Amino acid sequence: MNRRPLRIGLSARIYHPQIGATGLQSKSLQYLEQSVAHWAMSRNVMVLMIPAVSGDAKVHRSSIRLSDYAEYLDGLILQGGADINPQSYGEEASHPDWVGDRVRDAYEMELLHEFMEAGKAVLGICRGAQLINVALGGTLYQDIATQIATAGAHLHPDYDRHSHAIEWTSDSELAKLYPGIGGGRVVSIHHQAIKALGRDLRVEARGSDDGLIEAIRLQSGRPYVLGVQWHPEFHPPGNEELLDCTPILDEFLGAARGRRW
Ligand code: MN
Repeated sequence: MNRRPLRIGLSARIYHPQIGATGLQSKSLQYLEQSVAHWAMSRNVMVLMIPAVSGDAKVHRSSIRLSDYAEYLDGLILQGGADINPQSYGEEASHPDWVGDRVRDAYEMELLHEFMEAGKAVLGICRGAQLINVALGGTLYQDIATQIATAGAHLHPDYDRHSHAIEWTSDSELAKLYPGIGGGRVVSIHHQAIKALGRDLRVEARGSDDGLIEAIRLQSGRPYVLGVQWHPEFHPPGNEELLDCTPILDEFLGAARGRRW
């Protein structure tokens, strides 16, 4: 069995320069939030960020394509971040603040399709879960607070300390992964939420209080594609109030290693 360290690709967050910015902030930046890299690095994993070629990039593309990254790497984590642009699921933004990042949408959709095409495991976190849903033809609520009257708090100034409870759906793979545990508390901060499900996806977890979709999975299981609306990387190790997400990381990495599950 191949025991070399797993190579996990991480999609880039993109900082678009703001009008009037100077110095480094006048440039397009691509970056990762370190918790997500460190979470994956808690196992025998090498994490590599995959830069986008988009936006104001002035490059002559070589023959290296995103499909080459999918071939080289064992799996993909789609990071959290900006909203999805509603145009990516066939709507116009109902408010100027909700336009999200269409450049990143296009880049991550291409990434997702290349990894799925190559049969590689994909884990989407927060925006990543929404991206998976939209890439497979699903839609989102543009703004939870104004579009879902019964919704609880999914956005909070406490940011990475804001948690709420979730429950596994019956017969879900997450329910099997956590025998005897019906769900847990998770750090879940998001402005949009999954509305209509994309093709071949099923709901794996919902908010306990409001039923909002909190996890989705590709039904066929091949390739492995899981999206979680919460941030497992923000759960401090050993915190007993929050869900232990190491089974999810290990399941994803097991799939990345090609293990049947
Ligand atoms: Mn939530």
